[in-house]
Order: sequence, then C-alpha cells, then structure tokens
Amino acid sequence: MHDATQKILDHVIKLDPHQKEFIQAVTSFLSSIDTLVDDLPQVVYHKVLDRIVEPERVIMFRVPWIDDDGQLQINRGYRVQMNSAIGPYKGGLRFHPSVNLSILKFLAFEQTFKNSLTGLSMGGGKGGSDFNPKGKSDNEVMRFCQSFMTELARHIGEDTDIPAGDIGVGGREIGYMYGQYRRMTNRSVGILTGKGPSYGGSFIRPEATGYGLVYLTAAILESKGMSLEGKSCLVSGSGNVAQFTIEKLLQMKAKVLTLSDSSGVLIDPSGIDEKKLAYIKTLKNVRRGRIAEYATQYKEATYIPHNGSQESNPLWNVKADYAFPCATQNEINAQDAQNLVVNGIKLVGEGANMPTTLEADAIFKDSGILHAPGKAANAGGVAVSGLEMAQNSQKLQWTPGQVDQQLQQIMKNIFASISSAAEKYSTKDNYVDGANIAGFLKVSEAMIAQGY
Ligand code: GLU
Repeated sequence: MHDATQKILDHVIKLDPHQKEFIQAVTSFLSSIDTLVDDLPQVVYHKVLDRIVEPERVIMFRVPWIDDDGQLQINRGYRVQMNSAIGPYKGGLRFHPSVNLSILKFLAFEQTFKNSLTGLSMGGGKGGSDFNPKGKSDNEVMRFCQSFMTELARHIGEDTDIPAGDIGVGGREIGYMYGQYRRMTNRSVGILTGKGPSYGGSFIRPEATGYGLVYLTAAILESKGMSLEGKSCLVSGSGNVAQFTIEKLLQMKAKVLTLSDSSGVLIDPSGIDEKKLAYIKTLKNVRRGRIAEYATQYKEATYIPHNGSQESNPLWNVKADYAFPCATQNEINAQDAQNLVVNGIKLVGEGANMPTTLEADAIFKDSGILHAPGKAANAGGVAVSGLEMAQNSQKLQWTPGQVDQQLQQIMKNIFASISSAAEKYSTKDNYVDGANIAGFLKVSEAMIAQGY
C-alpha cells in the first residue's frame, strides 16, 4: 500500500482497534483503491478517503421488551448512517446475537459501494440488534419489533433512511415494524422495503438477492464462453439468499450439492432438486426447522455437524465447479479457500456480505479463479429495494415480470461496470478491485461536488 493509503488505514485502526470486521472491510477496500493512487487527484486522498471511512452518524439505543413470562428484556439497537452523498441511507437490519458496532459499520461501509454499483440513487446504511429471534415466540418477535421501531422511527424517513431486512429480519419482522411505524405516525409511506406485496411491497424482492447472484454469475460465465448448465455448485446457508440462489441455479440447469445452517452442513451428491428445496423452505419458513431433518427425510444426503469453530468447513471441501457462499461474513477462511482451489473450483460468487477472510481473498487472487465479491454479486436485493421505493413514490405496483426484467438489466450493468473498472484500473477479471473502484468513483465524485 502507498503511504497515503496506509495513513488512512492506520487512522481507522487507531480510532477503533477492536472493530475487526470494519478494519477488514476498510483494508480490502483501500487495497483496491490503492491501485488508483497515481490516477486520483490528491483531493480524493485528502478530502474524500478520510471522510468515507467515518460514518456520517451512528445511532445506538435501548430496546426494552416483555417476554412471554412477563419479564423485561433489554437489547441494544443500532442504525449506522454511513454515507448519503448519492442518495438517502439504504440498507438492511440484522437481528443476530453477534451484532455489534464493528459488524454494522462493515456492513454499512460495504453497502455504500454496493448501492452505488446498482446505478440507483441510494446511500449506504445498516442497522439491527443483538436480539436473537431463534427460539422466540411470534408474540415475542412482534413485541421486540414494535419496541425497536418505537425508537428507530424518529431517525428514518422515505427520503432520509430506508431500512430493509438482513439476517434474522424477513417479511414477518418488516411487517411488524411497518405496522408500528404506521400506528405511531399515521403515515403509510415507503419507509421500509421488503414489505409484503399486499401493503406496498415489490414482487420479486424476496427472490432478488439470490436471483441477482445467479444473473451476475451467468454474465461472468458467458463472457468467458462458460455456462451454468450441467455444472455442480456448492451453496452455503439455507435462508432467503441461499433458497432463491438454488431456485435460480436449478432453473439454469445447474446441479446443487450442499446447504448449511449454524449447526451443520448438508451434502447431497444426488443433487438438491425442486422437491427437496420446497421441503427445506417449509422447514425454514414455517417451523423454522434445522436442515438436519433433511438428511432423515432424504437418505442419500449426509449431515455433518459444524458450528464454524472448526479449522475448516467440510462444505468447502466438496469437489464442484462453482461456489456460492450465502451464509455470513468470514465463512470461508484460508484453509477453506485452499480446499476449494485444490479441488478445482472455477468461480466464487458471494451471496453473503464479506464471506471471505483477507487471507482467503489472497488465495483466490493468486489462483486466478473468477471471484465476484458480495458488493457486486448480491446487489440484486438492494436493487429491487430501490425499485420498491420507486413503486412506492409512484403509488404503483409493477408486475413480477417487469421487476425481474429490470433486475436482470441491473445485474448486467453491474457486470459491465466492474469488469471495465478492473480492466482500466487494475487487472482484467479482478472483480474485487473492479467492484471497489467502480462503486467508489461515483460516491467520491458526489462527495467532491457537494463540498464538506
Ligand atoms: N440486507 C441486504 C443487503 O445486504 C438488502 C438491503 C436492502 O434491501 O436495503 O444488501
């Protein structure tokens, strides 16, 4: 890294030395931007990069709620309003016990460049809570969501900050939060995306992240004369992103071999077909069940308990053509990356945000495999959120076909912009650099134009 770039990273580390995920995301971003050091005017180094790593605003609040035993529970709520240079803050809410400021700052930072890549006018934000929805009753989840929104409401708005879902926040939670916002303000406006289609939500929003991931992958493969048809794929996770990634992969005639959740990994050499996928969806969505049950239903599959603390994940040691991490950050470590490369993986497309450690990134880069980073590959979700905002302000609802067509076009545009930025400023096919650089150029131009 050049001195000017290193100085910015050192400052971030000095300010918050314990925020390891945020430092990781900034390190990865600055390594890409460093290739621009000779192209960028000094003003970018002095007046943009040092501002871009600091959130515009961080809101932290108490979330009190009553559990089913009548006991008062307290969780911590957050909203990180990272950057609004190109549009109102936009990004999901995550409810998970691991949530802390470092994780939300990394997610809001990534979101800023992801949103820029969509070509829509959305700034970056992220929020959530350390609340664990697992094992909570429906009433407990509702009371928590209502309390969370009671505080969040004053900080958001349809032209200010528009949250959506992320891990632990799906259609049910968005519905409870939206209902509370309406009750408090007597306003039915698009202050959240990911709403149900009966009250202002967009068709294809639940599918969008997974579908978009496959559309971007198809565009990359097509540019190389390759395709998905008949190819074997590893998918991790079993939530919204994984489910719709698998659905679209199957439509593209690929074969999907794996799934996972926080307790284990499922390997099905005969392939996960539509029927098995429907079984998983039912398990996850209705009974919030564990994928371990899949292996008792379908004997050809093997279930391996795995909680992430082991040295390597058996899922990433299955031989396949393409890998789609769709679970969570840092789910692929150096050993996993090594296993994937040794087994001949040809492409990694990230459905999750920052699923690879810095060491894993370096291994992929050295091996020359195609690596589509989350901020480009999973941008379909927030892109359709942007389309939901457009529908809300028009008071219209587009058909599923109209939304899907726009999503396909947006993912094609993202491919074009990350591949041309890679070629122009870094190395051909280095989509990690291409995504960071293309996302950054628009945000920095807007920041310079608006002064400070
Ligand atoms: N949480 C999603 C993401 O990581 C979607 C955010 C949104 O739709 O605002 O991009």
